[in-house]
Amino acid sequence: MPAVTLAGREITVSNIFCIGRNYAAHVAELGNRPEPEPLVFLKPSSALLGDGGAIRLPAYSQDVHHETEVVLLVGRDARDVSEADALAVIAGYGIGLDLTARDTQSELKAKGMPWTKAKGFATAACVSAFVPATAVSQPSALDFSLTVNGALRQQGNTGMMLFPIPFLISFLSRHYGLTAGDLIYTGTPEGVARLVSGDQLQLDLHGQVSARFTVA
Ligand code: MG
Repeated sequence: MPAVTLAGREITVSNIFCIGRNYAAHVAELGNRPEPEPLVFLKPSSALLGDGGAIRLPAYSQDVHHETEVVLLVGRDARDVSEADALAVIAGYGIGLDLTARDTQSELKAKGMPWTKAKGFATAACVSAFVPATAVSQPSALDFSLTVNGALRQQGNTGMMLFPIPFLISFLSRHYGLTAGDLIYTGTPEGVARLVSGDQLQLDLHGQVSARFTVA
């Protein structure tokens, strides 16, 4: 069973929700427009890759991009949660990569087809260990970053989200329902770019947790 780590404990992962187009500068860099409501897609749990893992680029893509995202770990089943109560649903905060085969995604978009082939391949959902929510004092002001081969590639702050964390939790709980063990990838800031074999990636969430990945 795919699992993540929360304060040293293994938690079985349920659903993997991802939010697209949640930072204005990233929406612009891909030539998209902001959405009137969160753009939600799913990844299979078989796509998970934990800290220290090796990313495998799918043979059908020549343009796999990193998308650095804060990842929420849902702590309990929840439906119809208000924004005021939303943060209490979160068990932990992590940092991850929503890897995206951009060329494949463009083909799928043009055909009006789902994004699974572009975003659901094995190792496409990279994630760190999780920091307990009790140790995160300001979820709406978390800095996060990605370096590739030692050079800064992406930098963001959760305060820049178009749909903030309490809104996302409330929205997902109303439309789909949340389940203990769900992960929520909350969208990427600007700076997405291609990965190549041999790249060394380091992710950081507000100095509280980091993770490393290599590209095979
Ligand atoms: Mg993304």
